[in-house]
Amino acid sequence: MHDLVIRNGTVIDGSGSAGIRTDIAINGDLIGAVGHCQDVGRVEIDATNLVVSPGFIDVHSHDDLAVLEDPEMIHKISQGVTTDIIGNCGWAAVPRSPINDRWLESGILGSKRPPSWKDVGEYRARIDSAHPSCNVAILIGYGAVRRAVLGSSREKPTRRELREIHRHLSAGMDAGALGVSTGLTYEPGRYSSTQELIRAIEPIAQDEGLYVSHIRNEGSGLVQAVEEAIEIGRRGGCSLHISHHKALGRENWGKVKQSIAVIDSARSESLDVTTDVYPYTASSTLLHTVVREGIRSDEAASVVVASSAYPDSAGRSLLDLSEINGLEFDEMAFRITETDPATVVVRHGMTEEDVCAVMRHEVAMIGSDGLPCEGGQPHPRLYGTFPRVLGRYVRELGVLTLPEAIRKMTSLPARKFRLHRRGTIREGWYADLSLFDPEKIVDRATYDNPRLLSVGVLHVIVNGDVVVSNGRHLGTRSGYVLNPSSDT
Ligand SMILES: [Zn+2]
Repeated sequence: MHDLVIRNGTVIDGSGSAGIRTDIAINGDLIGAVGHCQDVGRVEIDATNLVVSPGFIDVHSHDDLAVLEDPEMIHKISQGVTTDIIGNCGWAAVPRSPINDRWLESGILGSKRPPSWKDVGEYRARIDSAHPSCNVAILIGYGAVRRAVLGSSREKPTRRELREIHRHLSAGMDAGALGVSTGLTYEPGRYSSTQELIRAIEPIAQDEGLYVSHIRNEGSGLVQAVEEAIEIGRRGGCSLHISHHKALGRENWGKVKQSIAVIDSARSESLDVTTDVYPYTASSTLLHTVVREGIRSDEAASVVVASSAYPDSAGRSLLDLSEINGLEFDEMAFRITETDPATVVVRHGMTEEDVCAVMRHEVAMIGSDGLPCEGGQPHPRLYGTFPRVLGRYVRELGVLTLPEAIRKMTSLPARKFRLHRRGTIREGWYADLSLFDPEKIVDRATYDNPRLLSVGVLHVIVNGDVVVSNGRHLGTRSGYVLNPSSDT
């Protein structure tokens, strides 16, 4: 007798190969067998007409506090996500320092509750004791490290400060981090020079960790910013991952062709470069950053504000809000960020052709970049990313085949981020699985109604335990923090 048998599903194993109709037997937290199963299971799932895929890996999440505050993680589990990679864009809940505490308590990561952990080891233990419904893997946020060491200084680190930065990065890697992330358009990441970053990531290279970057420019300077990331990866000795690869702003549309070519040429010189993408033509970031980069009046209509301090702002553009309040749009933006520095905006600034070109790129994975926010309106990608790729970009537009889309959500990220024995359906590997109806799966979250759950994901299994059954979250919390390249 097996613990769980999944019968008659179309098994798409994550490698990119086509599906095969067969059974899967699960014992404990592992896949026991793939193939016709004669034994019964203590629990059986009839997967007729369903695809059985490895659980999806969200390589770009900002759920650093959500995994503690909301461990059922319905916004991800309902999409079939079984592993969530946190600590992106240089943002993180550790290390602690007075300035980092103020930053966290501004609500930027979705909760204003004061942090209750001392260091990365304790933070990690908090996540494990919260027992989230999905697995979690951690990146060290370079922005948070830099702020803990240098405060908001724009200077380069002294030799002593660099040692201190190294100490933080080593502590993070010792605690099981996968690597380090930067956010070079944000404070304080934008003060870090190329040279600073090459030196700073030495401890990451020593541990074979990743350098993950929200690069310095995603508009007119996209290509140069990709080149800088490649230089940092190469000279710093780290495998490189470029976050949310895109070209922002009408005048930059089409530039992803050049940035893809630059990435491919680095790969041909054997640098390991990968990217991620979310399936939307609108981005989302802090209003503060948009204001600093400068908004032209013709762009103010495409920037939609979602501030809990301005409840009537939901769904309104910056231009509308400024007209309602009788202010110039830049004055309006300034007032909002003064009241609520964590104000997030959704900005309609990409073209579908670029989104498709990036998504088709062989080394592009899927990452939601979802920003949980209390009150306010999140970008719908928080709830819709994975079903949207499978419903819109696979079924409706035919941009990707189904096995290729699944590869981008499973084995490709697992291999890159060193998630051992995950991301592929194989005997002896972890039983993280997502079962969905390929004819029905689709996102429902919209810009106006961003918290609508997706449809079509019927069963989700994390470490051998059923978390979602017939579309309903059972309250199971079988996830934990993963260690890179080790068995737990
Ligand atoms: Zn980012």
